[in-house]
Parts: sequence; C-alpha cells; structure tokens
Amino acid sequence: MSRYKDEQCRICRREGQKLFLKGSRCYTDKCGVTRRNYAPGQHGQGRKKLSEYGMQLREKQKTKSFYGVQEKQFRKYFKMAEQAKGITGEMLLQILESRLDNVVYRVGFGVSRAQARQLVNHGHFEVNGRKVDIASYLVKPGDVVTVKENKRDTVIIKENKEVNASKPVPEWLEKDNENLTAKVVRLASREDVDLPVSEHLIVELYSK
Ligand code: SF4
Repeated sequence: MSRYKDEQCRICRREGQKLFLKGSRCYTDKCGVTRRNYAPGQHGQGRKKLSEYGMQLREKQKTKSFYGVQEKQFRKYFKMAEQAKGITGEMLLQILESRLDNVVYRVGFGVSRAQARQLVNHGHFEVNGRKVDIASYLVKPGDVVTVKENKRDTVIIKENKEVNASKPVPEWLEKDNENLTAKVVRLASREDVDLPVSEHLIVELYSK
C-alpha cells in the first residue's frame, strides 16, 4: 500500500526533479525528491549517462507525467501541434496547458492536476455557463471557467478556495477567488510554462 502511495514520488525521483504531482505535500520536507534525491530501485543511486534516445524518451515521459496524460492522447496532441502555426514543441506545451484540468489546477481550484481532473470528471465545473466534465477539454481565449453553484459548498472546493486564495496565477489566466471563476485571457506561451523540459527533444523523438 505504501508502495502504491509513493508511486507519484517515484516518477519525480526517476526524473530527478519535482513534478508537483501530490499537491501540498510537494511543498514540505516529506517530498520524495527532498528526502531521497536519487532514482528509485536497486540501482537508483548510480545514475547512468543517457543515450540521445534515452534523453528524448525521458523528456517525453516527464511531460506526460507532469500533465497526467496517457501516450495515445499525448501523440494526438503532438499531431495537433505539428499542424498548428508555430514551433511544434511550444505548440505542444500550449495545448497541454489548455486542458481544462490544467486550468483548474493553475488557478488553484484543485491542489494538484490529479485532484483537478477528478473534480472536473465529477462535474464540478462549467465553461461559459455550460457543464463540462471532460478533463481534456481545451479552453480558448475568452472562456470563463466557474465552479458550479451547487458544488461551491463541498469540502474540497471550500478548502482549496481558502488555501489557494493567494496562490499566484499565470498571466494568461485571471481569477476571481471570491466568485470561484477564472477567465482565459489568452493561450499560454512558452514563458508561462514552468516545467523544466527541452521540448525539442520530444519533437525529435516523434519525428524519427
Ligand atoms: Fe512526491 Fe510531490 Fe515531491 Fe514529486 S514533488 S516527489 S509528487 S512530494
């Protein structure tokens, strides 16, 4: 059981950096990377030098884990990014940032992307006044994300409202904490993405 509970921390330890997958725990001394900053497993303390392919693979896995996206969906986003106007790697990150679960997390209505995803799936949110319970829904500039009226008194929503009242919100989003509403001012740019990733390596991996 404890092994299962540590699964998310093992992902961070494998990548050698904090990916903030567990909410408030990630900011404490209990963080797996803070306590054991080496890869999990028997040979974890002797990290090997990665091949070019290994590095590309790690960057992709890290990005998938960070946003909580499965391989099939991730490939679909890559195809969309390839067809979009702009630098493919940056477009890929922009698409991932536009997911509704990510927006809910970014503005602090959820303490982690995993929790945000669950809240969306359980029908806690509306976009432009209509219920949306699909975590992968992609927001557009001008969209307004709101906690549904009948969900505002739930324990999690009330707790998150209080705990994240002063959480910094990225510039591409605007949050009204009192009314539990967030507006998408524009789409995220590369500078808005705080994941330390070399996205061009992902592009190279998929372009083989
Ligand atoms: Fe675990 Fe969060 Fe630390 Fe990652 S950042 S190791 S998920 S506590």
